Amino acid sequence: MTRRIALAGFVHESNSFAPTPAGIEAFRHGGGYLPMARGAAILEAPRGVNLPIVGAILHGEAQGWDMVPILYAGALPSAPVTRDAYDRIAGEIVEGIAGAGKLDGVFLDLHGAMVAEHLEDGEGELLARIRQAVGPAVPVVAALDLHGNISREMVEAADLLVGFRTYPHVDMAETGRRAAKQLDRLIAQGKPDAKAFRQLDFLIPIAWQSTSMQPGAGLYELAAEAEGMPGVASVSLFMGFPAADIRDCGPSVVAYGETPELARRACDRVADAVGMCEPAFSGEVLEPEAGVRRAMELAQRAGEGPVIIADTQDNPGAGGDSNTTGMLKALVACDAQDAAIGLMVDAEAAAAAHAAGEGAEVELTMGGRAGIPGDTPFTGRFTVERLADGRFDAKGPFYGGVTLELGPSACLRIGGVRVVLTSEKTQMADREMYRFVGIDPEAQAILVNKSSVHFRADFQPIARTILVCAAPGPMPVSPASLPFTRLRRGVRLAPMGRSFVPA
Ligand SMILES: [Zn+2]
Repeated sequence: MTRRIALAGFVHESNSFAPTPAGIEAFRHGGGYLPMARGAAILEAPRGVNLPIVGAILHGEAQGWDMVPILYAGALPSAPVTRDAYDRIAGEIVEGIAGAGKLDGVFLDLHGAMVAEHLEDGEGELLARIRQAVGPAVPVVAALDLHGNISREMVEAADLLVGFRTYPHVDMAETGRRAAKQLDRLIAQGKPDAKAFRQLDFLIPIAWQSTSMQPGAGLYELAAEAEGMPGVASVSLFMGFPAADIRDCGPSVVAYGETPELARRACDRVADAVGMCEPAFSGEVLEPEAGVRRAMELAQRAGEGPVIIADTQDNPGAGGDSNTTGMLKALVACDAQDAAIGLMVDAEAAAAAHAAGEGAEVELTMGGRAGIPGDTPFTGRFTVERLADGRFDAKGPFYGGVTLELGPSACLRIGGVRVVLTSEKTQMADREMYRFVGIDPEAQAILVNKSSVHFRADFQPIARTILVCAAPGPMPVSPASLPFTRLRRGVRLAPMGRSFVPA
């Protein structure tokens, strides 16, 4: 018999310490997610886009689901979601599901680290309301980001939570497909799985969470292996999003199986391994000018491809505005040559570059507008090398073909340094984000990417080496320096770091 499945998405990663909240407009635009869509329009999402909702739609089409699409809304990471946006989006999803008639299951594309102005656990609240709407017998499954801060309320309200297994997240669509398959399995099974859930008591800096390095790579292999244990249906490891000032911040493991004992055993196997790896989540972080000098030196040696610097503390994927100036200042101060930095997001400066025209020499002030201690605007005399409307397809594995709309944009040059200036913010995680303004990323000596980890998906293959620099920005490389007030007692603020004590 045809299965009738409701689909909805509400995606946001909330940084309690970031400058700008996510209002309804941020969700309409969508950033690197899809623009807000309702009903049948959701099913028209381009099939190549790397997002869970697309993986679920592909699975649903292949299985002949009768899909009931409700609402999809995603916004780039930023400060928490406004109460207005949360109430409108969550309300529309819950009403849509409640009014959808008889359903066999519910598929949700969520993040897992959403905080709203008025509540800490955005997904916990949404899942509880959806559970209330559909009753205990209809399976509710959610695909979640690897950065989810999972709460017991989320685990209780959903039948199954499935997380990404890669960071950079190249498996977002695949995770949607896996979650959709689990939904089919639960419907066929006719009863819920047993669940196990454990939180780990230390925060992991996102720069050291990547699954293209250890210990992340090994831990996710182990999670996949644990999922293959007899009687175990699903195991997900969440690294957590550390810039969230909430009780449930931090890594966690959730497992499902035939019996509580089997689920518990799989959960413990992975959670114990994460605990053992605590000291291994670490790496070298350089000051801006030291990083640029190191990069210049490395670029002189034999080898190929650019030295890539992650401007990790202004990562828009963690709530930054992509407009701090510390790395740009360091590049100019060190007189770096064949260097490029992006994205610098500043609509006013971009408008001024467009007014000046291609080929013009113009004095411009950009960035440094977020009020971050130690970060100030950069003023300099630039050559406007190229103007662009900011609309192009990101072709690398992270964005997976999505069309980006960065607004009026430009390539500006000052000495040997080129700046990719845009009006809208998106994480620098695709080589096209240099090419669209005429910069050939492979030919540069140094690239500075405003990203922590996602850029690795498309840039690691061309990188001579990757350095991590800490210029003043809203997302400290170590969460230990964040002014937390609401974590649970005893959580260590960094691997092997000091414990949080509530005031
Ligand atoms: Zn993530």
